[in-house]
Amino acid sequence: MKKNRTCAIVEDLLPSYLEELTNDTTKEMIEEHLKECKKCRAYKEELLAEKEEFLLQEEKKSAGFKKRLSRYRYQLLGLFLGMVLTVAAVFGSIIFAIAYYNRETQTEAHTENIQEYREFDDYYGISKLYLFPNATIKDKRGVEIKKYLYDCKGTKLFQDCQILLECEYSKEKYEEEKKRILGISDRETELFVKYTKEEYPYPAAYAMNGYETCYEYVLFLDEEQKMIYVYLQGGIDRRDLLFSEEYLPLEYGQNGMEFEAIGYNIYPIEEPFSEEE
Ligand SMILES: [Zn+2]
Repeated sequence: MKKNRTCAIVEDLLPSYLEELTNDTTKEMIEEHLKECKKCRAYKEELLAEKEEFLLQEEKKSAGFKKRLSRYRYQLLGLFLGMVLTVAAVFGSIIFAIAYYNRETQTEAHTENIQEYREFDDYYGISKLYLFPNATIKDKRGVEIKKYLYDCKGTKLFQDCQILLECEYSKEKYEEEKKRILGISDRETELFVKYTKEEYPYPAAYAMNGYETCYEYVLFLDEEQKMIYVYLQGGIDRRDLLFSEEYLPLEYGQNGMEFEAIGYNIYPIEEPFSEEE
């Protein structure tokens, strides 16, 4: 009976003993009893086996969790990489397309030869250049081209243009040409060329005035019977001007490159230059 009672106590204490939670005296007592009692030794083995099994299960669970976690991580990483690649591909394509377009649509035309007036090679400006007299002026009496400058470069979408024509007229031709200019209007917009004595260094008529940084105007040098026709596009800096600054509108580029965004424009919309009829 005594043995059985000790067995009951040892059985109770064994879990604590295995966790090393018992004090030295108890530990000694348990160990002494285990040496003698086969039944309690067997129970101890049983407990140990259970504990081992439990630890094994825990490890498995945690391994499974880790596995799931790492799979999840890979999925996140994949998703992230996918997004990065997509964005890179989209931006890359856009940049490539712009670069390609710019390369394929480069234009560059420059001449100061008065014989080439009105050829307007590689012109993609937004003005229709109504103010500029037509080609037949070459054949007519009473007109003399004094100076011609044609410089258009950039891409077809964004072109910088500087066109200047200086003509000297006979008295009769001068009046005729002035009348033509002031009578110009656009049928679609019903807008008219404006005459001013204030905004330019000389009395002037303009079709475009700061519209999308474009200027198209004629200066009237009445005493000399001369007209100076100008077209500027692209917000040309004064320093890059290929002709005298004295022919610029008075307010031209006064605030650095801050041009008036929308000024005056007789043309319906900014269409690429189409051939004159
Ligand atoms: Zn026992």
